[in-house]
Amino acid sequence: MKKLLALSILAACSAPVFADVNYSLEISQPQHHLGDVSVEFPKTAQAHLDIKLPAWRTGRYEMLNLANGIRYFKAKDEDGKELKWEKIDHSTWRVHLNEPTEVNVDYQVYANELGKRARHIDDSHAFIDASGFFMFSDSFRQEPATVNLDVPKKWRSVSGMDNLKGKNSFKAADYDVLVDSPIETGINQLHTFEVDNREYDLVVWGDGNYDVDLMLSDLKKLVATGNVIWDSYPYERYVFMVHATSGAGGATEHLNSTIIQRPRDRFGSREDYLGFISTAAHEFIHTWNVKAYRPQGLVPYDYTNMNYSKLLWIAEGSTSYFEDHLLVRSGIETTDEFFKVMSKTINRHLQTPGREVQSASETSFDKWINQGGDHARNYSTNIYSEGSLLSLALDIDLLEKSQGKISYRDVHKALYNNHKMPAGFTQTDVLNILENLTGRDYSTWWEENVDSPANINFDELLAKVGLKLERPEKAKVVASIDATAKNTGELLTLSYVKRGGSAWQAGLTTDDKIVAINKQHVGKDLKSSLETFNAGDKVTIDYIRRDKLESLTLVLSKNYDKPKKVVADKEATSEQKALFKAWIGVEHPNDVTKN
Ligand SMILES: [Zn+2]
Repeated sequence: MKKLLALSILAACSAPVFADVNYSLEISQPQHHLGDVSVEFPKTAQAHLDIKLPAWRTGRYEMLNLANGIRYFKAKDEDGKELKWEKIDHSTWRVHLNEPTEVNVDYQVYANELGKRARHIDDSHAFIDASGFFMFSDSFRQEPATVNLDVPKKWRSVSGMDNLKGKNSFKAADYDVLVDSPIETGINQLHTFEVDNREYDLVVWGDGNYDVDLMLSDLKKLVATGNVIWDSYPYERYVFMVHATSGAGGATEHLNSTIIQRPRDRFGSREDYLGFISTAAHEFIHTWNVKAYRPQGLVPYDYTNMNYSKLLWIAEGSTSYFEDHLLVRSGIETTDEFFKVMSKTINRHLQTPGREVQSASETSFDKWINQGGDHARNYSTNIYSEGSLLSLALDIDLLEKSQGKISYRDVHKALYNNHKMPAGFTQTDVLNILENLTGRDYSTWWEENVDSPANINFDELLAKVGLKLERPEKAKVVASIDATAKNTGELLTLSYVKRGGSAWQAGLTTDDKIVAINKQHVGKDLKSSLETFNAGDKVTIDYIRRDKLESLTLVLSKNYDKPKKVVADKEATSEQKALFKAWIGVEHPNDVTKN
C-alpha cells in the first residue's frame, strides 16, 4: 500500500498540472442557449498560438459551421494581461504572444442545434460534444484535458469520461478522447447495470412513451453479444444517452458512449421500439467498427477539414449490416422482423436508380458533399444501404465457399485485432485479410462490386441461405407514373420523379404541381387518383410549373401495390438451412417448431 502511495505521489509530481488543458463551461443563461467557456492552455514559447474550434464533429461526415456560434472571444497571458488576437480562417483564432506564457481564453457559445448532436443548452439540460464547445491547439492536442461544469443546482452530469473530483468534473487522456466523449447534463433519469464485469449507464433526458424496463432488459442482452463478432471489448464502461424529444432524430457513436435521439412518442409501438433498439445496436457496433478501428483517411481526425476515405461503406454500411445479427442472436428481434428489415433495404436499393450510377467507393469518398433529395436518389447511392448489401453479399459468399466456417464477422475480428487505433486500415489491408482467411484473391470482386456500381443478384444470393425474395400472393397490379407526390393544399406536388420512369419520360419534374389527370381534379394522394386507370393507359396530365398551367400526355407504367418480401424457402435443403444458421446464428424458420 505504502509503495503504491509513494508511486502515486511520484506520478502526480512527474505529471504537473500545468501540462493539462483545462476547460470550464458555465451555464448561466440556459433559457437563451448560452454558455461561457474558459480554456487554460499550458505555457508556450511560440510567437503565436493558433486556437481552433472543430468544423465538424465525429460521426457526422459533414462540415457544420460550428465556429459561427462563438462570440466575445478574449485572450489573456498568465498575468491576466490581454493578448492580441485575430481570426485567420473560419475556425482558427491566432493569439499573438510577446513572451513565454500560459494562454487563457474566454468566449461565449450559442448552443441551439439539438439535431446536429454537437451542442444544445436549454433550461432543462445541456448536451456537450466538445467539438461544439471546446477549442484546441495542435500544440497541446496530445495533452490531458480536464472539464469543469458550472450548471444549475439540480442537474446531473454523465459522460463516458471518468470523473475528476466532483460530479461535474471530468478528465480525458487528450483532446481526441474529450471530443469523442460527450457529456449529458441536466434533469434526467439515470439507470446503471453491469454485464460481464463491465459497467453501463442509461441516461434519458425528456419524457416519452418509452418503457425503461424493456430498454434495460434488451440493452443487457445487446451488450452481451459483442463477442458474436469480436473476441474482446474496447471499454470497461459504456454510456447510452437518450434524448426523448421533438424536432430531432438520429444517433451518433462515440468512444465508449452513444447519443440516441428520437421523437418522444416514437418508442411505444413494436415498430418504433425496434427502431430504437436497432439504433442502439448500430451505435454499439461502432464502438469497434469506427472507434476501435477505422479507415486510414480518418486517422488521425482532422477537425477543421474534410477527411476523405473510399471505405466509409465499411464504417457505416457494415455497421448497419451487423445490427440485425446482434438483435437476432440475442433474441431481441425475431427472424420475421429481421426479414422485414432486409426486405426494406433490398427494395429501397432496387428502387434507387442511383445504384446504377455511383459505386460504394465513390459515395464513400463524396460523403462530405452528398445531399439528399431527388437528384441523390436518381444519381447517387449511400454508404449505409449500399454498404449493408455489399456486406451481405460478401458474408454469404465467404460462408458458402467455406461451408459455413468463415464469415464476414471474421474480417471484422481481424480488423479489430490487427488494425487497432491509432493505425488506420486500407483497402489493401481488407483484401489481405480476405486472402488470408480464404486463400482467394478478392480484388476482382472488389473492382466489380465496390469500385463499380454493384449488380447484386438477390435471388441467387438469398437462395444460398434458404431464402427467397418474392411478391406477396395478394399483391395487385396497379398503374403508376413512377413518381411520388405530397399533398400541398388542393394540389399534389411531385416530390420525386424516378429517372427513366413514365413521368420522367413524359417530361414531368420534381416540384411540378399536378392539377388533373384526364381533366379530373386529383384527389388527396397520387395512388387513389390513379386507381381507376390501368397500366398502359395514355393519360393527360394538367400541372402547374412556375405558376403557369401546362399539359402533357404520359403512358402509365405497371407497378404493384405491395413490394417484394424476403421469406423462408419452404423447399430449403439441409445444406441451405445449415448455411442459414452459420450466417445468422439461429435455426432456419423451417426447422423451428411452432407451438
Ligand atoms: Zn453509423
